[in-house]
Amino acid sequence: MTETALRLGARVGPLPGWQLATLVDAWDESPSARTLVLEVPTWPGHLAGQHLDVRLTAEDGYRAERSYSIGAGAGAGIATVVEGSGSSRAGYHPAPRSSAPPASPATPARDDPDPALSTDVPRVEITVQRVPGGEVSGYLTDPVEGFRVGYPVEVRGPVGGWFVWDPDDTDPMVAGRPVLLVAGGSGVVPLMAMVRARRAARSRVPFRLVYSVRTPDDRLYVDELTRPRAGDQGLDITVVHTRAAPLDARRGPGRLTPAELAAHGWPADLEPVCYVCGPTPFVEVVARMLLLQGHAPERIRTERFGPAGD
Ligand SMILES: Cc1cc2nc3c(=O)[nH]c(=O)nc-3n(C[C@H](O)[C@H](O)[C@H](O)COP(=O)(O)OP(=O)(O)OC[C@H]3O[C@@H](n4cnc5c(N)ncnc54)[C@H](O)[C@@H]3O)c2cc1C
Repeated sequence: MTETALRLGARVGPLPGWQLATLVDAWDESPSARTLVLEVPTWPGHLAGQHLDVRLTAEDGYRAERSYSIGAGAGAGIATVVEGSGSSRAGYHPAPRSSAPPASPATPARDDPDPALSTDVPRVEITVQRVPGGEVSGYLTDPVEGFRVGYPVEVRGPVGGWFVWDPDDTDPMVAGRPVLLVAGGSGVVPLMAMVRARRAARSRVPFRLVYSVRTPDDRLYVDELTRPRAGDQGLDITVVHTRAAPLDARRGPGRLTPAELAAHGWPADLEPVCYVCGPTPFVEVVARMLLLQGHAPERIRTERFGPAGD
């Protein structure tokens, strides 16, 4: 599939129905989050910021659907699921489409990809944070009792057309504007897709990422966000820890303040595009701060992941 076809697919919206995907690779992104690489033969492409829906079906016919942001920009895909410590619903044990590797005795740092699976097929990557007691995230982030390489899953997407950043966007509201990304917890996933899309496009648009996370252990994409890659010039990253900070941190633990957001974001008179993503209360507080700092509502784009968290 060409890049043009992928991008066109992304622009015409989601696929009409559910597609069968296969987990072809997976690794721990943090002690409680796992990145999953899904092969989706009919994937039409996507833009940075879009998400997909995952549907699980239990043996008794019970179904559960959840949304997960795609962690990579246009073309390549990424999805992340955040793990929780709770138990997943018993019964999601779909038979592997091909012979799945045996379960490891302990959680592996990275599953071995099944070499029998094709690499020519479009892939999307998501990162899932395990939510305590979470039905779907508990299953998706458990590589032993739950979702293993070689297993199938139904997906639908891409979904979403507002919470996107496209380096080729010609809309004067977005084109060439500085970008402020504000992430709470796993809300960093679609924002990471935007960072990756900027890098892939060799864009010079100035980006600032403010990433609020509970503890150092909860950080996602640590290596990529700590060591700038070629093409990341013009990307500034600030990490704020809310519950426990590293010993060498410049600030102690605490929630993101309006002064910090103003200092590490952009002045409103530069008319940046602001993308805010994370748990619902986080998004609402940050969006309110941005409004009070003079950012126009139409320049603040938000994505709410869930009902709780900080
Ligand atoms: C557009 C969109 C994109 C998303 N992208 C991602 C992503 O990239 N990575 C990711 O890990 N999650 C993402 N989510 C959240 C995801 O869809 C699920 O809500 C999450 O995985 C929890 O599902 P669950 O079945 O494990 O928990 P459930 O069984 O539904 O809930 C278990 C308990 O956790 C609480 N809860 C549910 N969801 C959350 C949450 N998000 N945060 C905190 N508490 C919660 C519930 O109130 C309940 O008490 C996204 C959500 C949306 C709407």
